[in-house]
Amino acid sequence: MSIELPALPYARNALEPTISEETIDYHYGKHHNSYVANLNKMIEGTDDADKSLEEIIRSSKGGVFNNAAQIWNHTFYWNSLSPNTDGAPTGKLADAINAEFGSFEQFKEKFSASAASNFGSGWTWLVKNADGSLAIVNTSNADTPITDTSVTPLLTVDVWEHAYYVDYRNARPEYLKNFWNIANWEFAAVNFAG
Ligand code: MN
Repeated sequence: MSIELPALPYARNALEPTISEETIDYHYGKHHNSYVANLNKMIEGTDDADKSLEEIIRSSKGGVFNNAAQIWNHTFYWNSLSPNTDGAPTGKLADAINAEFGSFEQFKEKFSASAASNFGSGWTWLVKNADGSLAIVNTSNADTPITDTSVTPLLTVDVWEHAYYVDYRNARPEYLKNFWNIANWEFAAVNFAG
């Protein structure tokens, strides 16, 4: 059994002008695809070849972990984006955000500040804790919240430079400002309910 690159949930140009087709060509077509190819080479003929991606992530270190976690993180990121978004959470997720952060505006400010200050390469996540409370979490490099099984990721933004350099050059805050135009709150709500 080999790990496959999941299909992108929209056309490569669907997130324009926030994220260009050129960025998707590199980010999905080359970076994400390379993590899949690398992992399959590494696990071929090993015990990991029969495991699910999540099982590999939770039982590995080093290069296997890095490639496996990056596959999972990127798939989650593509689903965290949508060309057809409501622009804001609704229902119980909206209530939880208001309860935790005061308002959706205050949440966006705090999430953006966290992502802007996430040093080097990494990811910024909205997660649900085991007690149902929400939190903003920064991870570095390939690290992923799913190594902690008490935490449920709801939404993520990739802050590796390859995610925004083609469209925004070094201006990570500008990428983060535009991220809100395509943040997939339906996906976050499904994760929150799950
Ligand atoms: Mn990336």
